[in-house]
Amino acid sequence: MSETKTAITPRREEDFPEWYQQVVRAADMAENSDVRGCMVIKPWGYGLWEQIQRHLDAMFKATGHKNAYFPLFIPLSYMEKEAAHVEGFAKECAVVTHHRLEVGADGKMRPAPSAELTEPLVVRPTSETIIGATYAKWVQSYRDLPILINQWANVVRWEMRPRVFLRTAEFLWQEGHTAHETAREAMEETERMLRVYETFAREYLAVPVYAGEKSESERFPGADQTFCIEAMVQDRKAIQAGTSHFLGQNFAKGSGIKFQSREGREEYAWTTSWGVSTRLIGTLIMAHADDDGMVIPPRVAPTHVVILPVTPKPDTREAVLTAAEKLAAELRAQRFHGDPVTVEVDTRDLGGGIKSWEWIKKGAPVRIAIGPRDLAQGSVMVSRRDRGPKEAEAVPMAEAAAKIPEVLQSIQDALYARALAYRDEHTRCIDSREEFVSFFTAKNSAKPEIHGGFARSHWCGAGKCEEVIKEDLKVTIRCIPFDAPQEEGACVVCGAKSGKRVYWAKSY
Ligand SMILES: [Zn+2]
Repeated sequence: MSETKTAITPRREEDFPEWYQQVVRAADMAENSDVRGCMVIKPWGYGLWEQIQRHLDAMFKATGHKNAYFPLFIPLSYMEKEAAHVEGFAKECAVVTHHRLEVGADGKMRPAPSAELTEPLVVRPTSETIIGATYAKWVQSYRDLPILINQWANVVRWEMRPRVFLRTAEFLWQEGHTAHETAREAMEETERMLRVYETFAREYLAVPVYAGEKSESERFPGADQTFCIEAMVQDRKAIQAGTSHFLGQNFAKGSGIKFQSREGREEYAWTTSWGVSTRLIGTLIMAHADDDGMVIPPRVAPTHVVILPVTPKPDTREAVLTAAEKLAAELRAQRFHGDPVTVEVDTRDLGGGIKSWEWIKKGAPVRIAIGPRDLAQGSVMVSRRDRGPKEAEAVPMAEAAAKIPEVLQSIQDALYARALAYRDEHTRCIDSREEFVSFFTAKNSAKPEIHGGFARSHWCGAGKCEEVIKEDLKVTIRCIPFDAPQEEGACVVCGAKSGKRVYWAKSY
């Protein structure tokens, strides 16, 4: 084994969960707050979220949606309007019961007993019910449909085992909520938005995903059908990166979203909801980061290029800084996928090595070093984050700016190719239960931390078979893929007839 020192310890294969925490810290993306389960998203992490938001928002608008904003608080009685929904979320609701504080007998602040709310308010874990109640007022006729709205917001789901970005009590997300005249239209919308997520994951996050339907046990509480995209990360577990729900008429009936149809009959609308969250950042880290820290795909990087002026001596400092600023200006005039290339010149009074390592750990796609010697030779040193930390290519100063967009694209492509190869290498068709159990059992692996992957195996469709596997191996059906060919086979659990393979994996 190579003893090369890495910037992150432990390394991925030594202790994946701890490596993940260390990457978040080393990249300066977020930290835990004094409120357990809630995170502080720092500028570099938030900059990444802003890029995710910006691109997704454009994709939502291009598919006909508009943004709006609904209240943070949901009256408790609204949650009860859909039975499966309230049951699904009851265990993780934060509830507001008072509206005033007062000084108690012990001299400490406490909620004033006289200020108890007549109806408690739930801090939204998701907004189907409050948005449904609003749509019920907006919709009278088929002419009022469809309603195509998205909301960027925070939500709260009380987490007993929080993990930064992956599972936090409060997280940021977007939730699309649409209402339609017919079941067919609502289903088309559900699928369209899942495809938006799939495209976004592939083209922006450089993360290949499987798209498909969830089995009943993994369905969103209150949905008729849930669709998802599932990614594989570097400990070979699955992570659900986005979901889109066909809600049927369940929420429309609960909230009273009724309309006069074209035939003059009163009918209930068909609704959908779909969302992605700051969990995408966790997905990105686990999919792309390495033993030297974060690796950010250029299309969502807060900064594409970092220029590192090397100024060992005062007499050359001025010339180096001038050259760095000139290159920065030339770079900003370049375009990458239609947007200006973003550049930061790091002029902090720190050693070149320290600065360079900071940006490696943050995962900036490109680093450009300029020193007095480079100036004399008329060149700069270009380093890519997808290559080794010591690798650098000398590029003539005059050509550097024009070359960067293709370097960025090349990094984007390389990250996707690497993630795809990794996933395919660890996805296996498995037909016997014995092999299935062995595939997912740590003790059969040389590296217990990292084993298994995705099993493509037949499933008869029975919830019982899923349950047995979940109990024995903590493995679940991640999705029933859209594009799987019809194929005769036998359920990997019970041997009953099956017409399709599904993806099984351990998951976050
Ligand atoms: Zn079965």
